[in-house]
Amino acid sequence: MRPLMRLLMRPLMMLAGVLLALPVTAQTCAGNPDALGTARVLGVDAATSPRVGRKQFPTTLPLAAKEIVLTFDDGPWPGTTPRVLDALEHECVRATFFLLGRNALAAPALVQRELADGDTIGYHTFSHPLLSKMSLAAAGAEVDRGIAAVDRAAYGDTKESNEHPAKPHTPFFRFPGFAASPALLERMQARGLVVFGADLWASDWNPMTPQQELALILHRLDAAGRGIILFHDTKAETARMLPDFLRAIKTRGYHVVHVVQNRREGS
Ligand SMILES: [Zn+2]
Repeated sequence: MRPLMRLLMRPLMMLAGVLLALPVTAQTCAGNPDALGTARVLGVDAATSPRVGRKQFPTTLPLAAKEIVLTFDDGPWPGTTPRVLDALEHECVRATFFLLGRNALAAPALVQRELADGDTIGYHTFSHPLLSKMSLAAAGAEVDRGIAAVDRAAYGDTKESNEHPAKPHTPFFRFPGFAASPALLERMQARGLVVFGADLWASDWNPMTPQQELALILHRLDAAGRGIILFHDTKAETARMLPDFLRAIKTRGYHVVHVVQNRREGS
């Protein structure tokens, strides 16, 4: 029954994908006329943007002043990801989640909620090793296993976890701990995967209160003026802080940009 359901759901999900690619402005946010909203959708691909994020690379996404991209790593996590999704949904903003394969398999309903909410799903390996410390073959296998697990949880794909190279639904990847190497980066580019770094972050791997995290990220954002922001939806302080952060960036005049796979005509 389940494979049949998936088959039947696929055209609906594709249609939903087309509709979800449209920005949800504050004016069209159900139940929240004062919502932050998603200002625009930006298509990204490895041909034009193989590596983005100035913390790691010389270039980043083509964002205008006061434009930000929200990204969350390491989920999904049952204790915290639902609160993050609630906050995003309430403000009608869309984000990108770089998922761990093992967490996606453990909580597929959360992955499917991210998709249903219109968020972008990217990949962050299966179990979060530092890939630069592994052999190229072992690193490649870990990446492929992560892609297979996430796509199984998200889309019901049945590709084998040892398929190499695994073809992901959305070619967005972030290295755990940003631990890349020139050889790994070359391989990612050859596979057509966009490697996301970040332009700024909340340092939410350090223990702090939600109030401290809010002050820190707003300070850094006002200094940078734009950029890809890295959070972890596995962190309780981030989940607690997020509603206030989204309110604060609306007050300060920032605009949320939703990144999606750039689909060229005919592809
Ligand atoms: Zn991570």
